[in-house]
Amino acid sequence: MSRPANSSPPYAHPETVAVTVGRPPRDPGAPLNPPVHFTSTYAAGPDVDATVGYGRDGNPTWTALEDAVGALEGGAALTFSSGMAASQAVLELVEPGAVVVLPHACYLGVAAAVDARAARYGWTVRRVDVADTEAVLAAAVGADLVWLESPTNPTLEVADLPRIGQELGEQVRVVVDNTFATPLLQRPLDHGASLVVHSMTKALSGHSDILLGAVVARSDDPETLAALTEVRHSFGAIPGPMEAYLSLRGLRTLPLRLGRAAENAQVLAERLAGHPAVQRVRFPGLTDDPGHERASRTMAGFGSLISIELVDAATADALVAGCRLWVFTTSLGGVESTLERRRRWPGELESVPEGLVRLSVGIEHVEDLWADLAQALDGLAPTEGAAGEPLDAEATSNAPAWPTATSAP
Ligand code: PLP
Repeated sequence: MSRPANSSPPYAHPETVAVTVGRPPRDPGAPLNPPVHFTSTYAAGPDVDATVGYGRDGNPTWTALEDAVGALEGGAALTFSSGMAASQAVLELVEPGAVVVLPHACYLGVAAAVDARAARYGWTVRRVDVADTEAVLAAAVGADLVWLESPTNPTLEVADLPRIGQELGEQVRVVVDNTFATPLLQRPLDHGASLVVHSMTKALSGHSDILLGAVVARSDDPETLAALTEVRHSFGAIPGPMEAYLSLRGLRTLPLRLGRAAENAQVLAERLAGHPAVQRVRFPGLTDDPGHERASRTMAGFGSLISIELVDAATADALVAGCRLWVFTTSLGGVESTLERRRRWPGELESVPEGLVRLSVGIEHVEDLWADLAQALDGLAPTEGAAGEPLDAEATSNAPAWPTATSAP
């Protein structure tokens, strides 16, 4: 279907793109926002190609969102019903007998999908540490697909996307799951990636109220875009119009949300690194993090995810249970701060430590976030240097939603 008049933005800055793209043409009397098109079918005419036809093939509300996501990533976007649907659409393009390169640690749903298809279609899967560029390049020799995630979920390893893109060039299809970084921090297509995948359920939509996914193809690769469009058409994993509208509404404020969340994350990561109950902090914004130099060079910021390692699973569970402002839940990238011990999921990779807790930092006040974490951490074990008394959950059930104890340095 045809794109709105403003689909090629003349704006240099993503903040402006996020606010501007995907709006109806500015005709007198036109609405500022795209309408939500609730329809399963479209009026037909003599020219079959001139209309969308059926609701599984297109919707103007998706188009508005796709224009905005495509403009932010520098490519052409297709939206799907979830990040997994988007990922599966890409995997559907891979032929039987293929060689697929996959990170050692990446989102468990994608790892499971690759393993299942490998068993069914005779794929060879080469697992690599995405932070080891030489290993990625070596594994890519003779491969059909290189799937990268950077930073990785949940261990936050950082890949050298510019170098990998430069070295691999057109040799192999490189797909980057950009869910954690978002296009504000890195644009993989600019570095030679073939496709970008998003769980738009996360930061792009940003309010933990919808599931949505996207694949972004290079603008100079209409064949791949057409192949993915065909997969979406035939599998039917389409977004709902309301979800597409809510996602676009959330996307408008991505730069503000991510900016605040990333600032909060930097402060919290530094304080967590100084807490005696925390054995290790993984956050590329810390100067001693293995990914720091690379992230400083290749990304425009360090993001809003932090992973911390506690001594064991029970201690990690106790931390999660001890928080009252932070929400114990899975998922990430919302305005609210959330945390979970990743190995509580039976499908989580064994390379992820049992005591690893992933924190998705939101946009609350950083001192409230720290106060809650600090009181939960102080209640765990080594207490020297800790501030704030551990709070008894029963006794404080009527307490305010945010803790009053502070331990900010
Ligand atoms: N990619 C990453 C990095 C994720 O974290 C997730 C979900 O957590 C997905 C893909 C799958 O996205 P969805 O849950 O929207 O299907």
